[in-house]
Amino acid sequence: MKTIGLLGGMSWESSASYYRILNTEIKARLGGLHSAKCLLMSVDFAEIEAFQKAQDWDSAANTLIDAAQSLEAGGADLILICTNTMHSVYDRIQDSIGIPIIHIADATAKAIQDRKLTSVALLGTKFTMEQDFYTSRLTANGLSVLIPEEDQREQVHKIIYEELCKGAVTAPSRESYRKIIEDLATRGVEGVILGCTEIGLLIRQDDVSIPVFDTTVIHAREGVRLAMAS
Ligand code: GLU
Repeated sequence: MKTIGLLGGMSWESSASYYRILNTEIKARLGGLHSAKCLLMSVDFAEIEAFQKAQDWDSAANTLIDAAQSLEAGGADLILICTNTMHSVYDRIQDSIGIPIIHIADATAKAIQDRKLTSVALLGTKFTMEQDFYTSRLTANGLSVLIPEEDQREQVHKIIYEELCKGAVTAPSRESYRKIIEDLATRGVEGVILGCTEIGLLIRQDDVSIPVFDTTVIHAREGVRLAMAS
């Protein structure tokens, strides 16, 4: 078993999900008392969020490069960056270390293709939905991607930062997300990407009528698959 490095804390609510999924998957594969070999480097999300707000992606990248280098020095064999948004600086982090970083959008695209779907909606932070770094990775994998309308994007973004990243999971917000997803479904998409690692705390497959692709689950499982590959 290889050692998985988690670059987390963005937010810690979803890093906790990653830790649980890694261990659940390893237990399912190996049984008994087996658990995942992993390292967690957890940053202060307030610092990262301030850089995001200021569009200071260089400072955000530098913080994450330091964290990734610590994971490598600590013995990680591969890295999962436990946030979709900060894949905006994926290339710079990957270039600064010698171990692979498993890209969350590539893992997600693969999961969608495994289900033989080609057209999906994307929910996430405004950075993830509106900037090019994420959607271009999905389209490069052969998918067509639809994002919500502007007012809906605003709502999705606000709930992530003001509620989910603070551990607040509420019925009204679940209903808002549900309505947005059903609206996207009427616009013809075959599935929806939960492209923020906290959304899975709010929305489950049973809540909506189209297939849901939870990036946290997909990414963590891909990490385990690669950690177990010879
Ligand atoms: N965890 C979230 C994501 O997957 C949002 C927090 C962040 O901005 O990193 O994008």
